[in-house]
Amino acid sequence: MSRTSEKLLPWYDANARRLPWRSPPGAPSPDPYRVWLSEIMLQQTTVATVKAYFERFTARWPTVAALAAADEGDVMAAWAGLGYYSRARNLVACARVLAAEGFPADEAGLRGLPGVGPYTAAAIAAIAFGQRAVVVDGNVERVVARLFAVDTPLPGVKPDLKRLAETITPDTRCGDFAQAMMDLGATVCVPRNPRCGDCPLMQDCGAYASGDPGSYPRRAAKALKPERTATAWWIEREGQVLLVRRPAKGLLGGMLALPSTLSAPAKAGAQATAVLPVDWAPAFAGAQVSLGTITHIFTHFRLTMTVAVASLDPGCVLPPGAQWWPLTKLADAGLPTLFAKAAAVAMRERV
Ligand code: SF4
Repeated sequence: MSRTSEKLLPWYDANARRLPWRSPPGAPSPDPYRVWLSEIMLQQTTVATVKAYFERFTARWPTVAALAAADEGDVMAAWAGLGYYSRARNLVACARVLAAEGFPADEAGLRGLPGVGPYTAAAIAAIAFGQRAVVVDGNVERVVARLFAVDTPLPGVKPDLKRLAETITPDTRCGDFAQAMMDLGATVCVPRNPRCGDCPLMQDCGAYASGDPGSYPRRAAKALKPERTATAWWIEREGQVLLVRRPAKGLLGGMLALPSTLSAPAKAGAQATAVLPVDWAPAFAGAQVSLGTITHIFTHFRLTMTVAVASLDPGCVLPPGAQWWPLTKLADAGLPTLFAKAAAVAMRERV
């Protein structure tokens, strides 16, 4: 056992966060389904947000077999608000593989599953199967960079941080160690103003010894996100609004949404152009009237979207998957956050 784990595991025994997908410290490993589901949900999303989604998902689909048998549209709607919707599509695809073939119990096997990258595979291997795996998320990167006072900036230093994390990973209680590192990063070794006085690793910490622990990890200067624009149309008829199913692949793929000009950038750095992503160019009767704009931050760009009210030309043919959705039930449509914001503007501003 490493000196770090000797100090960290007793701290974890006393301070572990109680989370719905976890087993208490030292207890047998939790159900791999719950570990996998929570780790997919936690990619890019906070613990506080995930808790409620996790409870709802496991109440509705308590086993991987139940999730495998679910309608993909129902899962996408239940996922609405968690963002990064390719995760929900991969979730269903992966559940179907797992229900048919069972859980691979090692990191290499887990890595081959839909939506399971190196971090998630390591986390499941350690937490659900007790295997020695080096589990490095953003919290752990920060702890390791501080512990070893690594001066090379992120993101280039990531492989070095993983190598350093490997040197402190123990051979036993691997799942608890992984979760202890995550918890230390989330509750004590926090991004700003780390609480070093409460930290079990303080005496061994290079960043603490430097006198300015909050300055680690070092970061390369960030490039500004490109700006893009798009228009979403609010098209109403007899108490209903027109929703379209976005193409399966691409930005917000497979989700119900307002018709819009929103598409993914063609290539990194490509000029932003308005491209109709739904293979459908609505023919309008009369002018479009702007109701307002919203902004939304995606991973690779910042979007300003105009919400415009419009009427369809009577001869306009709707695209496959289009639906007239009752305004009174709009909250049940599972719109992704961007379009939920656009709908809120339209509901507030339309006359
Ligand atoms: S001593 Fe401070 S900087 Fe070092 S690991 Fe602990 S909380 Fe983080």
